[in-house]
Amino acid sequence: MVSVTTTSQNTVEAGIGLDNETLTMMLETVRDYVRDAIPDERLLRLDHEDECPVDLVRGMCSGDQLGIQLLFIPEEYGGMGGSTFDVYRICEQMAALDVGVATSVLATFLGSDPIFFGATPEQKSRWLTEIAERGVLYAYGATEPDAGSDLGALKTTATPVLADGTVRGYRLNGRKQWISNGGIADKYTILARAPGGPSWFVLDRGTEGFTQNRPEDKHGIRLSNTAALFLEDALVPVGNLVGGVEGQGLIQAQKVFGYTRVMVAAFGLGAGWAALDRAIPYSAARIQAGAPLSEKQGYTHKLIVPHAVRLEAARAFIESVATRIDAGEGADGALNTEGAIAKYLASEAGNQAADAAIQAHGGYGYTREYLVEKIKRDVRITTIYEGTSEIMEMTIARDRWQRHLKTGGRYYLDTAAGLRALDTRHPDVGAATAAVACEALAGVLETCRAGRLTRNQHVLLRLGELIAAAEGAGCFAGRAAAALDGELPEKASHRFDGTALAGMSRVFARDAAMRVACDGLRWVTGAGGVSTGGPLAGGLRLDAACAAQEGLIADMDRVADVLYGRDGAASS
Ligand SMILES: Cc1cc2nc3c(=O)[nH]c(=O)nc-3n(C[C@H](O)[C@H](O)[C@H](O)COP(=O)(O)OP(=O)(O)OC[C@H]3O[C@@H](n4cnc5c(N)ncnc54)[C@H](O)[C@@H]3O)c2cc1C
Repeated sequence: MVSVTTTSQNTVEAGIGLDNETLTMMLETVRDYVRDAIPDERLLRLDHEDECPVDLVRGMCSGDQLGIQLLFIPEEYGGMGGSTFDVYRICEQMAALDVGVATSVLATFLGSDPIFFGATPEQKSRWLTEIAERGVLYAYGATEPDAGSDLGALKTTATPVLADGTVRGYRLNGRKQWISNGGIADKYTILARAPGGPSWFVLDRGTEGFTQNRPEDKHGIRLSNTAALFLEDALVPVGNLVGGVEGQGLIQAQKVFGYTRVMVAAFGLGAGWAALDRAIPYSAARIQAGAPLSEKQGYTHKLIVPHAVRLEAARAFIESVATRIDAGEGADGALNTEGAIAKYLASEAGNQAADAAIQAHGGYGYTREYLVEKIKRDVRITTIYEGTSEIMEMTIARDRWQRHLKTGGRYYLDTAAGLRALDTRHPDVGAATAAVACEALAGVLETCRAGRLTRNQHVLLRLGELIAAAEGAGCFAGRAAAALDGELPEKASHRFDGTALAGMSRVFARDAAMRVACDGLRWVTGAGGVSTGGPLAGGLRLDAACAAQEGLIADMDRVADVLYGRDGAASS
């Protein structure tokens, strides 16, 4: 059953990762360090000139300066052993400053993940220690020109080099595409097809036969270096086969998705909020038709409020997944679907928020100076790398479809029952409306099963979208309740208090219920699964979803008051 209570204090504060003071200090230090190094003027220039600030990236990953790489290296290898929760907070902070720079740092996180999850103890000690001590920069080389979403199609080969009948090394041949840090890294983790199957290899920059292309001229994250890699008989020693066994590459890649997708989700969250945090003060100062834009409901309730709500719903999911990973639930990729939901909700919300922030600035938003235009271009990548939104939809839908089948259709009905129990304790957090969304979802899934409608791929992917909305609503209600009970962990974001979160959660739950009921009806009807006037509408809880909309505008008014700090509404 889907968890309806989110970040439990116990798991986050059971001593996993940094203590709250250290995390807070690190968040502030990252902010100050990056702002000092790239004030807005330099940021705009680097973006314009499509230049990666290598000095900054190296400084961030150097023990003498910021040392951010220590966060994700376990203490036994000289790092700080940050938890997933810590990493989410830092990733959000970095992305709020610049998604390109955040991507460069992330590339070392990603590049070392196959090592972390798949290497032998000796290899871990060698490679992770040098990241901690020397700030070695990594790049993660999985994607190829013909193998992106479908990594199984990879063509890069690893041919064993034999001496006296023993494998002494591998010759790598092939091409990697769009590799972050591709032109600046010191070491590369490369996925290549060995005789025993896809495997990860660690390759040093400067290896003969290994070259990097010039940086790509990109739409956004122009402060991040992205380059193709060419491998022509590049020789790696046998000791650089990660884990020492061929054929583990795709399994090792799968193991990390729950974790890495939380990081990219945090990028969507950070960048989305960075855009809104520019639009909010702008609209409070901008006078049109005799009053600030912030006092115009048609402006705030379209361009500001729904986006803040979606971002905070995504945060609820991110915090929930991070907490569960830190509690040990994510072993062997067990939380990959949850990671996908977090990434999907946050990256889509971040994109929509940044787009709205341009509109909220009017003509000024369309110029470079106000930065929201750059943020919009930057955050766009979060719906593409580490798995596109469509692949997220597919991942989510396939997993939950199986759960629906295995439980005889009870999966989301049980979740709804949990939400109704939450509603009796906290009638103000939107849990009953989230329950309607889940009940409607159970109806949609069951209709799809009866009519075999998921043979239409579009229906399957739309189910992924509706599932993310319904689960997001349940999770947000749980987080709002935890905040009201004073049970949010210390390390969680405390930007909004429980009352503010409850109002936001009610708005999000209404949207989720309506979307599941209406879009669900649309797609099952469109796929020929129901005839007009049949009993379906009842199962889809359309009436209940409509009834739940009562009070929506008043709640949006409250959220706007919070965001603009009116009437003593709480937001810190
Ligand atoms: C700036 C940047 C940085 C990157 N950094 C790295 C990196 O460091 N390391 C690395 O390995 N990779 C990296 N990538 C690659 C990235 O992960 C891939 O671009 C991404 O996985 C998508 O693969 P693709 O580009 O081949 O698109 P495709 O897989 O060809 O997808 C194209 C479109 O088709 C859709 N699609 C694909 N398959 C299906 C399907 N089965 N059903 C329905 N729709 C489908 C996709 O959602 C997408 O909309 C980076 C990419 C960019 C642009």
